[in-house]
Amino acid sequence: MDATETVNEFAQLGLRTELAESLTQLGYEAPTPIQRSAIPQMLAGKDLLCQAATGTGKTAAFALPLLNQRAEWERGKKPTALVLAPTRELCMQVAEAVHRYGRPFGMRTLPVYGGQPIGRQISALKRGVDIVVATPGRALDLLQRGTLSLSEVQTVVLDEADEMLDMGFAEDIEAILEQAPSERQTVMFSATMPKRILRIAKAHLRDPLRIEIPREVQDEGEGPKIQQTAYIVSRAHKVAALGRILDVEAPTAALVFCRTRDEVDQLAETLNGRGYRAEGLHGGMDQAQRDRVMGRLRSGNAELLVATDVAARGLDIDHLTHVINFDVPAAPESYVHRIGRVGRGDRRGVAITIAEPREQRLLRTIERSIRQRIDIAKVPTSAELRERRLTATRNNLARICLDEDLDDYRGLLGSLTVDFNIDQVTLAAIKMAHLATVGEAGEADIPQVEFSSSERHGDRGGNRGKSSTRGGRAGQKIRPGSSRGKMQRLFISAGAEAGIRPQDVVGAIANETTLAGSDVGVIDISARFSTVEVPADSAKEVIAALSATRIKGKKVKARRDRH
Ligand code: AMP
Repeated sequence: MDATETVNEFAQLGLRTELAESLTQLGYEAPTPIQRSAIPQMLAGKDLLCQAATGTGKTAAFALPLLNQRAEWERGKKPTALVLAPTRELCMQVAEAVHRYGRPFGMRTLPVYGGQPIGRQISALKRGVDIVVATPGRALDLLQRGTLSLSEVQTVVLDEADEMLDMGFAEDIEAILEQAPSERQTVMFSATMPKRILRIAKAHLRDPLRIEIPREVQDEGEGPKIQQTAYIVSRAHKVAALGRILDVEAPTAALVFCRTRDEVDQLAETLNGRGYRAEGLHGGMDQAQRDRVMGRLRSGNAELLVATDVAARGLDIDHLTHVINFDVPAAPESYVHRIGRVGRGDRRGVAITIAEPREQRLLRTIERSIRQRIDIAKVPTSAELRERRLTATRNNLARICLDEDLDDYRGLLGSLTVDFNIDQVTLAAIKMAHLATVGEAGEADIPQVEFSSSERHGDRGGNRGKSSTRGGRAGQKIRPGSSRGKMQRLFISAGAEAGIRPQDVVGAIANETTLAGSDVGVIDISARFSTVEVPADSAKEVIAALSATRIKGKKVKARRDRH
């Protein structure tokens, strides 16, 4: 598929050409299922109730129509759209996505959330804003101060509505919706559809259209012979995890799926830099380039093909042993299509999915839909990997001892043993053989992320294990701990710009308080601030300790995080 066809696919949904083109520039090749269903309806002005989890492309599903509708409107001071989202991280992400997609229109988008000085948000609102993306608490605060006005709002989007209810925002949402004009369009996105969500929909949406990601359910017994495994790792560690998985799995040929063209290019380059023979394939390439790539793969000159869904359509690679989803596919049917590339005939295949913690819900949807279990495995530790590599070196050496004529090297051995004893020479030779195959790269451990059981069983009680914790803009997050009691999120007044990394936060807490590093929960480092989850009953102690100490030489303020 070339760029024009991609533009057409988005334009066919009713989107303006400039918008469709800006998506092509971002490397999007085709709309996701939720985008196909929701975009035309939202453009037609319908109220929508959409069941879609993170990873399905839901943000673009509402952001694109918002932008499309407003492209030619007169710009006043007051916002014409309000998006409510449960967390500051999601607010920032949504605002960033709206900004990115809407670059051709110069739409004024403002994220509004707790933790940022309210003064800055107030002055931005006074200057004039088109789309406000807010956490309910801060939106209500600004409404009550009279700084935010909803009188011109024509569309309200509730993103991750179930998450907002879980976080206790129900009353705030009701109060906010009361202040928006009654003839507005209202669109709700929610990963689950419990009764509470339906009640809100009934009270505030007008004859909503219900949209679910279409599910493709297979007949029992028809499932492919594919071993399916997923690894849950934070975004920052995905590439390292993939490398380790590839080392352990040692595929003859693997197809690695990414979402966008840019991701394909980046990942293929990174993998080549790490010593794998990878080729990228996407819709931005012409036929000659595609043929060259396929030739290198078929001849065994490349072992990894990194591709988008669209580019991989119709590919038939005989000796493929592994399919790897570098991102969770946006819908169950694309998962089924992807993994169907292996396990053909009577051959066995392996399908591996690398999921971020926030994508666990989508993984569960896929599991339910294909009626097969996707096992959650732990990324091999550096010790396990070292062990396997040493075993491989041992086997290689043993094979050479058994099978090969080594007489040519006897002279060299003789000259070396004049200066060194035979043990030293042998160990040096083993080291050389080992490094020749594995390289000298040091291997740091990849923090293990637990697959939270509440996600798997659909129990959404409380704040623990929630999937809404998103990689902030600075994008560093770790979830090192094991299962714990109630946790409290703390705000810390310094972030990536001050050089703070997750390990610095863990270190400061472990050094200055009675807690161990393993008691610390999710850490999120944004540009100017950080958040950390600690056991609720130790929150006071941690706040006092952090406020009295320095992190990376910087004095910080810590307090309970309200949003
Ligand atoms: P979301 O479900 O909104 O959190 O989106 C998940 C990811 O999919 C984001 O990184 C988006 O940039 C990406 N994405 C959204 N729509 C598309 C598309 N049509 N093609 C490729 N990637 C997409």
